[in-house]
Amino acid sequence: MAEPHRVTRRARLIAGLRSNVPPSRWSTWFSGVRIELTDQTLDVVAPSDFHSHWLQDHYRELIASLASDYLGTDIVVRYLTASPPLEDPQVVPPTDVPRPSERSPEPSALGSSLEQSSRYLDKYVFDNFIVGPSNRLALAAAMAVAEKPGQHYNPLFLYGGAGLGKTHLLYAIGHGALTTRPDTSIRCISSETFFNDFVEGIRRKRMDDFKHRYRTVDLLLLDDVQFFQGKEQVLEELFHTFNALHQFDKQIVLTCDRPPKDLGIEERLRSRFQWGLLADIGPPEVETRLAILRRHAGFAPKQVPDAVLDFIAQHITDNIRELEGALTKVTAFAALAQQPITLDLAHEQLADLIPTPSGRPPTATEIIAVVAASYGVSLTDMEGPSRREPLVTARQIAMYLIRTLTELSLPKIGKQLGGRDHSTVLHGVNKIIKLIKADPQFAHRINDLSRKLGST
Ligand code: ADP
Ligand code: MG
Repeated sequence: MAEPHRVTRRARLIAGLRSNVPPSRWSTWFSGVRIELTDQTLDVVAPSDFHSHWLQDHYRELIASLASDYLGTDIVVRYLTASPPLEDPQVVPPTDVPRPSERSPEPSALGSSLEQSSRYLDKYVFDNFIVGPSNRLALAAAMAVAEKPGQHYNPLFLYGGAGLGKTHLLYAIGHGALTTRPDTSIRCISSETFFNDFVEGIRRKRMDDFKHRYRTVDLLLLDDVQFFQGKEQVLEELFHTFNALHQFDKQIVLTCDRPPKDLGIEERLRSRFQWGLLADIGPPEVETRLAILRRHAGFAPKQVPDAVLDFIAQHITDNIRELEGALTKVTAFAALAQQPITLDLAHEQLADLIPTPSGRPPTATEIIAVVAASYGVSLTDMEGPSRREPLVTARQIAMYLIRTLTELSLPKIGKQLGGRDHSTVLHGVNKIIKLIKADPQFAHRINDLSRKLGST
């Protein structure tokens, strides 16, 4: 029964490919391509040499990783050109492709592929990663791991605040490893996907599939492991996955928004996370920020004046995603409104991110408004009696910020927030201080809020 088996394998491969390729690209580049399979080979037959080269440039890694995952690591992928031109271009996927809803038990797994890889493969590579003192160690470790997975630092644990390049490096490791050895089998996924796969595995009583999928790879790249906190069952599974891979020197890379010691997980797993190398990524220095902006500005249709880049680099200090977002906002607006890119325009467009320094501390009313907006709650609710979340936290943050940024006394703060008494305010302020100490992500958020209020 080799034939039907081959048909399903082929169908799964194509389904995997299809879910990784944006529809517009699919119709342009894949619909004229034939996929032919034998037990040893996978032929990607393109209608022209040009077509074939393009496919190899853009999708070689993806196809290799899907092939090794669905067809085994021995499979040889060949790129051929049909000559004469395909008469009857067999449109892929053929009808035997399962629809997503009927697809076999790996809804989000996409073989060993890099999750949503086509979108990320292009951008999240080492070449696009700007190095500075804040991320030098993390980059060096990531490159070493990509070059020789399982040999240097295992696991590699990358941690740092939001928007500092953890995911970028994680994908770059996958990309780098595939470039050196296209047959490396890789699973690069968010912790949430791991979790969902696990739940799905239990639900469908297909835990063997799950285990096979995660314990037989050369490289497991797991993003945002803080997600697992408090999820005991999946932590247990992660523990076994970790052991299964580690004992055979299979590489594990984890990213997290905090160091292992601050993770609320069992000690045995926490200590394993620290077996290899811990590398933190800090907020970038101003030179690094400028370098990142310059690089981005290079893609803008119009020249971006240095003063604008400086302005953004000076003010957006601890999140590279925001840094890039700010520049895009300014250049996109200028293009749409057909205006020159000027410092004034940047001030105007970024007013919500970068307040114009007014030279005076914020007032309690301003603080309450900014916190309310950030938590999506109304001003009336901030002053009202409700004790639901996130209202309570928002109110306590407002108390804390008013306390730290203004001279108001505790009773006055209580008055501003709907007539609460001073002990309630004190309790709120203390609670936020504790949270800031315990949770770096929370601390980050508070920091962002203070910055919005122009206090840093
Ligand atoms: P994290 O996973 O830490 O939240 P990401 O990896 O998603 O952050 O990075 C956020 C954005 O910033 C991405 O677009 C990424 O490409 C970019 N970025 C982060 N660090 C760098 C860097 N050192 N050089 C260039 N771009 C970077
Ligand atoms: Mg990330």
